[in-house]
Amino acid sequence: MTPTSITVHETDNTDVGANAEMHSIYVKGSDAQERELSWHFTVDDTEAYQHLPIDEVGRHSGREGNHSSLSIELCVNSYGDFNATRANAIELIFMLMEELNFTTENVTTHNYWTNKNCPCNLLSNWNEFIDELGGSPEVKGRLLEVIAFELWVYDQPDWEARYITVKQGEVFTINSALTVMVPKCIN
Ligand SMILES: [Zn+2]
Repeated sequence: MTPTSITVHETDNTDVGANAEMHSIYVKGSDAQERELSWHFTVDDTEAYQHLPIDEVGRHSGREGNHSSLSIELCVNSYGDFNATRANAIELIFMLMEELNFTTENVTTHNYWTNKNCPCNLLSNWNEFIDELGGSPEVKGRLLEVIAFELWVYDQPDWEARYITVKQGEVFTINSALTVMVPKCIN
């Protein structure tokens, strides 16, 4: 196949040690074969494995997705650093985008193809993920105008830490960008 998109997944496997290396073994084993599962890359907090050539059809996203899309699985193993996994995935996707002449419009989710709640952790802030792929490495000092009626401002990287509200038309400056712990996914 000639891939026309990249599909992002999460393994949903929170076992300790369910990292990229473990999945590289799993995907070649009998269980994956019986379940007719295969995909192209797995990324964890330290490395990425490639399991299929990028022009080979995988089995990860239903018929349409399988026949048109490259697949990347992000590990969610316990004691793994998901933020590092996410950063590594961005780096890998960015490389593939360059190689295949893709833009962020060619990057999609398992959810898009089959409605599955995958990639579970990333879906809740998917636009942010896409923005990072589009390349906005430095947000510091950028002015942000509020276009919503009202927005909460937080003074700590915690959804409980509501600080003040800002109103439509107000402008404020970003001093630093933080990643807030995402709510736990229920699989
Ligand atoms: Zn998936």
